[in-house]
Amino acid sequence: MSELITPEEFPPAAGPLVDRFARSKHKLRLSLTDRCNFRCHYCMPEEPEWLPKSELLTFEELERVARLFIHRLGIDSIRLTGGEPLVRRGVPDFVARLDALRGLGLRRISMTSNGVPLRRHAAALAAAGLDDINISIDSLDPERFRRMTGGGDLAAVLEGIRAARDAGLGLKLNAVVIRGDNEDDVVPLTEWAMGEGISLRFIEFMPLDARGGWQPQRVVPEREIIERLEQRHAVEPVPRTREPATYYRVDDAYHLGVISTVSNPFCSTCDRVRVTATGEIYPCLFSPVNTDLKTPLRDGADDDELEHVARGAVWRKGRGFVESAGYVQRAITMHGLGG
Ligand code: SAM
Ligand code: SF4
Repeated sequence: MSELITPEEFPPAAGPLVDRFARSKHKLRLSLTDRCNFRCHYCMPEEPEWLPKSELLTFEELERVARLFIHRLGIDSIRLTGGEPLVRRGVPDFVARLDALRGLGLRRISMTSNGVPLRRHAAALAAAGLDDINISIDSLDPERFRRMTGGGDLAAVLEGIRAARDAGLGLKLNAVVIRGDNEDDVVPLTEWAMGEGISLRFIEFMPLDARGGWQPQRVVPEREIIERLEQRHAVEPVPRTREPATYYRVDDAYHLGVISTVSNPFCSTCDRVRVTATGEIYPCLFSPVNTDLKTPLRDGADDDELEHVARGAVWRKGRGFVESAGYVQRAITMHGLGG
């Protein structure tokens, strides 16, 4: 990829939120917590030390951040994530606060969840204004699911999926594929999701786990996922869009996605920016450094100052996975950052 670095050292003070490579940002992933009811080995340490609650942005602070990104920086989609966002109390009320920001330009409010808390919260989330939810489900085998998620209950996830549907939420499923764990689930998961009429995306295992278990040979690349499916089904590629997933038409009817961050990264068209639950801006999942938004926020900075901090953080965004291509040494992993 040729460098598109502009000669200016500083970001434009107004206009679209852009980085040095002329990629503009429209999507904000906002993490609500590092805590989780699961211990997925590909994400979470075995014995996590949770961040002190005082370090987490309050819902008032999170709303201010959201408002800033929407009103000043052109963000039109927000995805709430974590950890497990729904282990934090009061999330439906927070969604309602975001819903009230639509007049400023917010068009979509989404969430990524492991699904378990949805049996209790799906209806309230839909009523509050949540548009859609991605639910993670790595296997249809209860024992395998339990192993991968460190004790997760597959039946509770399936119940959460039903609750999300009944509540009328837009729904997609995510499955991380890891060699030696669940590559045999590619076909059954696809056939089940097809039968249920729910979109499914497989995700390649990324080197962002907290336990150091990632190895290149444990990544099941997009090509192999598709070859496994081709043994049972007709699979045709669909032209790639700006979405992170590459889509395939299965049996001329169903659209299946693969997020191949490792074997076929989408970094050149990335339009996301991330803010952690402690108010750090990570312009990329693979950024080794972050920018602190919480300190100026708590020190009374006005919106002009916060906008300046956010624009600078995004401007310094690196190329992405393509420049790291291995473990990223930093103090945060997937559960803290929000996948
Ligand atoms: N707890 C929620 C969930 O599991 O859906 C939201 C947070 S989780 C960090 C977001 C997504 O990141 C999930 O779909 C999860 O499977 C994925 N993920 C976590 N660690 C990963 C890794 N090392 N490689 C690829 N995907 C990962
Ligand atoms: Fe929790 Fe999601 Fe990480 Fe699993 S992937 S440990 S459910 S945050």
